Amino acid sequence: MRPPVPGSDPSTAPLLEEAGAAALLADRWQLRGELQRLPSYQDLNYRVRSADGTWVLKVANAAEDRAQLELQQRALTALARELPGVAPAPRAADGEDIVEVQGEGGAVHLARLLSFLPGDTLARAGHAGPTTWRSLGRLLARVDRTLAEVLPAEAAGTEAALHEAADRPFHWDLAQAEWTHAASAEIQDPARRRLLERALLQFRGQVTRMLGRLPRALIHHDANDHNLLVDDRGEVTGLIDFGDMIRTARVFELAVAGAYLAMEQVDPVAVLSELAGAYHETEALSGDEISVLLPATAMRLAVSVLMSTRRARLDPGNDYILVSQAPAWRLLEELDGVSPAAAEDRVREACGLNPRHEAGLDPAEVLDRRRRHTGPSLSLSYRQPLAVVRGRGCWLFDKSGRAYLDGVNNVCHVGHCHPRVVAAAQEQIARLNTNTRYLHDHLARYGERLAAMFPDPLEVVYLVNSGSEANELALRLARAATGRRGVVAVEHGYHGNTGALIDLSSYKHAGPGGRGAPDWVATVPCPDPYRGRYRSGEGSGEGGGEPGGGGGATAVAASYAAHVDEAAAALAGRGLPPAAFLAEPLIGCGGQIVPPAGWLVDCFARARAAGALCIADEVQIGFGRVGSHWWGFEAQGALPDIVTLGKPIGNGHPMAAVVTTRAIAEAFDPGMEYFNTFGGNPVSCAIGLAVLDVLEEEGLRDQAAATGQLLLDGFRELAERHPVLGDVRGQGLYLGVEFVRDRDRREPAPEELAALLEAARADGLLLSADGPDHNVLKLKPPLVFGEAEARLLLAVVERQLTTACDGTPAS
Ligand code: PMP
Repeated sequence: MRPPVPGSDPSTAPLLEEAGAAALLADRWQLRGELQRLPSYQDLNYRVRSADGTWVLKVANAAEDRAQLELQQRALTALARELPGVAPAPRAADGEDIVEVQGEGGAVHLARLLSFLPGDTLARAGHAGPTTWRSLGRLLARVDRTLAEVLPAEAAGTEAALHEAADRPFHWDLAQAEWTHAASAEIQDPARRRLLERALLQFRGQVTRMLGRLPRALIHHDANDHNLLVDDRGEVTGLIDFGDMIRTARVFELAVAGAYLAMEQVDPVAVLSELAGAYHETEALSGDEISVLLPATAMRLAVSVLMSTRRARLDPGNDYILVSQAPAWRLLEELDGVSPAAAEDRVREACGLNPRHEAGLDPAEVLDRRRRHTGPSLSLSYRQPLAVVRGRGCWLFDKSGRAYLDGVNNVCHVGHCHPRVVAAAQEQIARLNTNTRYLHDHLARYGERLAAMFPDPLEVVYLVNSGSEANELALRLARAATGRRGVVAVEHGYHGNTGALIDLSSYKHAGPGGRGAPDWVATVPCPDPYRGRYRSGEGSGEGGGEPGGGGGATAVAASYAAHVDEAAAALAGRGLPPAAFLAEPLIGCGGQIVPPAGWLVDCFARARAAGALCIADEVQIGFGRVGSHWWGFEAQGALPDIVTLGKPIGNGHPMAAVVTTRAIAEAFDPGMEYFNTFGGNPVSCAIGLAVLDVLEEEGLRDQAAATGQLLLDGFRELAERHPVLGDVRGQGLYLGVEFVRDRDRREPAPEELAALLEAARADGLLLSADGPDHNVLKLKPPLVFGEAEARLLLAVVERQLTTACDGTPAS
């Protein structure tokens, strides 16, 4: 189907002056009366007041299909019989419902006389409430019941055309709306595009696959507020304009009506519930129909904004089009935040049906049952653990639909459940999932795409399943290439959960339950310029490099880096010279540490001089989080031999990677196969590709830089008023705020931070703590975190700081 352009061409609208219309009425209907032109986009309408009644003369666009008008005539005649107050319109003198009128340049227009329904349109009357919603539900049920009689049972002979007209290709029909997937790329604003893509995905998942089970019927299909007539109590008394009538899933009648009725309402689900409940009293809806109402309503809104965006492009001077689509975007956004299960149950309740969704376990019971079958070393956040059931962008939702702003999840890098990533996963997992022993385009393409993001000579990509596996493989690569075993690692570093990685992660082996470092590991001090062994920014800069003394960043960097020589020498002295120096360019568990400028470059130089290879662990910070660059090592001006990637790479799908040089990869090929059952499978590659597409298309790296700066500035400003904030640091959307009891002594304040975290959670914001003293507020939200979210986060932190840390109640 060709992507549609909205509306028929108004240039084919008939030109019939009042005198011509009067002559037509007199000639064909033998009717005389007072005429008044009515507005129409593509047809020509006159109201005709005669002695016998009031009618509408409707002269159609030349492009209008005759069978379609005939179908409308049959519908209107049937409805006039069924619905009180509607007088059937008179036929033309020759008995025809539809008469031909000669237009300009030989064009033929089809003219009809319709009943005139008195009353104001809902659009003009403005007010809508439960009376309107319920009366519309009742009216639509009666309309649909009547329309069910309109199409002849036999689609034979001349009647076949009526069936064709009912089943015609129609871009507004939600059952034919696949075109919207490609068209959503036309929406420039990434947040809006995501919203749209998510609505389309939900529709595909929840409605398209159900289409065969939904009752099909001829429906009016356009009960918007311009087509509804209301009395002065808001009761819907009439429905006009049957031009969009089509045979499709019957419940789309309610989805279309609901999409308009729920705009600008406080509780859109209440509108849908009342509408459906009232419909159901007259014509029973099936459970399937109720289950698709919400996603179908969102889909109608999606179609509507896509159509109006196209119309706006054709008519660039017409600002009204974009203004009028604003309520549709707002409602789409609101529906996006609604819990589908809760909404469905509310509609069911309004229809007198029992809820379909179990209330679920309460969190205390989940905790109890989880504990019975999981090990005690799994931890949970918060005094009262949080149970979440859905994610969207930077938001998480609990069962009740309460939203939490996610300030810490750096795994869902491009946003929770990003529709592009979800769609890529769904499509590929439905098609094929195998391993790297077969050829597949995705692996070839992903390897190319990922390698292109690295400086030379980093060009070989290994795909694995977790950050731990990536660091394990990096270790094997370094050992294979150097023939050595030792490793120099950084204090407070964490690199993964395998035996070897616990051995070299001081965060673990030197922490609670740890058993110290084995002989093949030497640890260098964490380059923390605020509370570490060497500090910058204190005093005049003299004494740089002296433990505890202040100094310039370069001197401090050199003092820290010099420990690499010492560590390498110690390892060599034990007969275990270093195969690798392993570091995170920004140190997460150390407390979101930004090392002093030059530290990483210096460490790499010293490690190489000692014969080691350099591994950058980018598992936390890679893929643009630091804003200025794709990778943290680039932001430090350093070039590693091996890079490990994880967390954000698959937006939550378990995948990870190692990127290295050709020479190292060759040294790792002594004849032994490297096989990884899941690493590099087509599903993971499809997901990885989608993540890269989204990063580029949505400009998320730049956004990380901008939002990160806003947060840094915001926290620095907060620190002026709240002495508990001792240091504010970070790059892009990887930030740390150090909580101290005393700024001079820099004494850590973990309890104050813990209180803030609990208070923020109660206020709908999720944050976490890190650092050896648990006193560093850690911020690493999904990169879709924008200005609005940053301002919200700062506002919540400020409010809760006042109560949780300063002891004064918030004003
Ligand atoms: N490296 C770093 C820097 C990490 O933060 C982590 C996980 N927190 C890992 C490696 C291990 O990754 P995974 O949990 O995916 O095995």
